[in-house]
Amino acid sequence: MEKMQFKAESKRLLDMMINSIYSNREIFLRELISNASDAIDKIYYKALTDDSLTFDKDSYYIKIEADKDNRTLKITDTGIGMTKEELENNLGTIAKSGSLSFKNETELKDGHDIIGQFGVGFYSAFMVSDEITVISKALGSDEAYKWESRGADGYTIEPFEKDHVGTEITLKIKENTEDEQYDEYLEEYRLKAIIKKYSDFIRYPIKMEVTES
Ligand code: ADP
Ligand code: MG
Repeated sequence: MEKMQFKAESKRLLDMMINSIYSNREIFLRELISNASDAIDKIYYKALTDDSLTFDKDSYYIKIEADKDNRTLKITDTGIGMTKEELENNLGTIAKSGSLSFKNETELKDGHDIIGQFGVGFYSAFMVSDEITVISKALGSDEAYKWESRGADGYTIEPFEKDHVGTEITLKIKENTEDEQYDEYLEEYRLKAIIKKYSDFIRYPIKMEVTES
């Protein structure tokens, strides 16, 4: 399998983000949930103009699953999914769509948490995980793909099996160190609090499941 390289500026940004900008790591979940919600929005808007598509509210949701034994946090959505090209273009270039630009100026003026107002996007997940796997099947496609990356050294893409259209993102949560705590991102109460704090306005159901042996 060929190992692809991130573009140079992406590499620098990624290092910077993981190592310094963010003291506020918990926002990674806001970013992944907002991407999941955007992906469902895309199907919703498509269904408005495409008669062959129906938007059945009950089949659209975001699911958060924590597995303490395996130290994984999985975010699944039933949104529009990504093709192989989209996985490469959208996840292979950091801050491609201006994720690192300020969200909106008025918000900024009276906000004290300036850093927290950046939309940093998908890559913020590397603040809490050392390996990310994205399995996705795009609407209208018979094929699914698996994108995998351990951070700045690049990513791989290969064909994969997935029944339903949508995206499944699995974060391998970092081990605790003397100075840094990551276990909390596998705890139900903590995940719920983060979701409540940043994702309360999301229009689709957010389901949660936490398992441990
Ligand atoms: P932004 O959301 O600002 O565009 P991100 O870094 O958060 O930046 O995401 C980059 C792109 O990757 C998105 O614009 C989208 O095209 C794609 N993407 C990320 N997550 C998903 C997802 N769950 N489903 C479909 N596409 C996604
Ligand atoms: Mg985003």
